Formats: sequence, structure tokens, C-alpha cells
Amino acid sequence: MDELIQEAARSILGSKLTIALTGAGISVESGIPDFRSRGGLWDRFDPDEYATINSFKRSPEKVWEMLREMEETIDAAETNEAHTGLAELERMGLLQTVITQNVDNLHQEAGSRDVIEYHGNSRSLTCLWCNNSYDYKEKKGEYPPRCECGKILKPDVIFFGEAIPFDAMTRSTQLASTCQVLLIIGTSAVVFPFNLLPRQAKQAGSKIIEINLEKTALTDHIIDIFLQGKASVKVSQLVSVVRELRGG
Ligand code: NAD
Ligand code: ZN
Repeated sequence: MDELIQEAARSILGSKLTIALTGAGISVESGIPDFRSRGGLWDRFDPDEYATINSFKRSPEKVWEMLREMEETIDAAETNEAHTGLAELERMGLLQTVITQNVDNLHQEAGSRDVIEYHGNSRSLTCLWCNNSYDYKEKKGEYPPRCECGKILKPDVIFFGEAIPFDAMTRSTQLASTCQVLLIIGTSAVVFPFNLLPRQAKQAGSKIIEINLEKTALTDHIIDIFLQGKASVKVSQLVSVVRELRGG
């Protein structure tokens, strides 16, 4: 097995606090395109027009055309070995928390228990007018879904221009500034303020491992071990070496 994987596995085994940061790339092999994929959602729906809170307030029907497609894509997606590998590391007591930008619930479906949803989730909906909240299953198949007051509901995903949920932000900052190993998987790490977390970890002296198909803005600056390749492949290799080294 490759030397870098061995080194990454040894770091995880020697660490008192390891956390993972994940982004759209970890769910690409589950069938959910990331921002960059050709033909993906964001090729056809310009985020400036569809993903800002002002665009939702201005024309919720139009934004729901994109949300509907996103919801159908997420419904059809299944976890892959990167999600299940992280859940296994947590069960082994070697991974504290997954902090994800994804809104697809796949970490939880794979068995991860401590998941911070930095950009919210798509499983509940809120009325911006009367603050009523609904489980998405109650409104399934209704496009656009409406509150009992008649207004169009917004999923609890964080749109550009909205604040990050307070608890998610404070807990993530606290974990990033105390972890000894940080695993960054499938994120370009350009979205603010999520992109501050890797630097906070670096400043606190954490070892940083990155798994990505290609180099990102972080790779040549703060990454200690870059594992280039598919998330599913690299995470499963890492987990099997960890298992091997700890003898079980
Ligand atoms: P991004 O699209 O900016 O970057 C994705 C990264 O993943 C890229 O660096 C790419 O090289 C890498 N990647 C792609 N396929 C991969 C694979 N199979 N294995 C390893 N790496 C792979 O995504 P981001 O940084 O997460 O930012 C996108 C924003 O859009 C986030 O805010 C997120 O909330 C949202 N989003 C979420 C989902 C989801 O919930 N699954 C999907 C698309 C976008
Ligand atoms: Zn309402």
C-alpha cells in the first residue's frame, strides 16, 4: 500500500482528536454532481440566480425548479465507501466529528452519528413568514411546497447571504482549533466561512490530510499529506490500513 496512505493512517492512530471536513466531492460517486461537474445542477442553474436568499425571496417558484431537481437527485443517491469509511472510523473511536457542507444526509445514512451540517439540511422546511416548520416528507411531491398560511416554504439549507447556524459555526471553530488531525475530503474549500476552518486547524498545529481528485487552493499551502484520487477509493484504503496497523 502506498507510503502516503501509511503515513496518514499512522497520524490518525496517533491523534487524540481527529475530525473530517467534507464537501460535494464526497457525494459525487453517489450520483450528486458537485459545483464543477459538466452538466451538473450548477451548469444549468446559475448560483447567483438560484442560490442566494434574495433570489428565493424574490421568486421562490423559480428557485423551486432548481430545488426540485436537487431533491430528486438526493432522493436517488446512495451512500458510497467514503461515507461508510468515515462512519467506521467513528465507530473505531478514531474520528470525533464530520463537519459537512453537504445537505444530502448521506453521512447520517452511512452511520455517522456526530455530523455538523454547516450549510443546513434539506430534510426540513421553514416558512419565512410565520416560522412554521415541516418535515420534508409531509410535503413530498408538492412543488412548490406551501405552508398552511399559503406562502412557499424554504428548505433549511443555507442560501448564499444567510448566516451559518450558530451552533454549527461555534462547535466547528472549536473543533478545528483543537484537533490534532484534520481530514479534508472532496471540497474546493472556497465557500466562506467554511474555508476558514482548515487554516484555523493549521494555526493550532494540526496535521492536515486532503483527499481530492485534483489539487485545490489548499494543497500547496497547508496540506501535509495529499491523497489524490476518488474519495471512495482513498477513504477505503485509509480505513483498511488503519485496521491493519491497529491489528484488527
Ligand atoms: P465544490 O463543487 O466547490 O468542490 C468539489 C470538490 O470535490 C472539487 O475540489 C473536486 O475536485 C472534488 N471532487 C469531485 N469528485 C470527487 C471524487 N469522486 N473524489 C474526491 N474528490 C472529488 O464543492 P464544495 O467545496 O462542497 O462547495 C460546494 C457548495 O455546494 C457547498 O456549499 C455545498 O453545500 C453545496 N453542494 C452540496 C451538494 C451535496 O449536498 N451533495 C452537492 C453540490 C453542492
Ligand atoms: Zn407560513
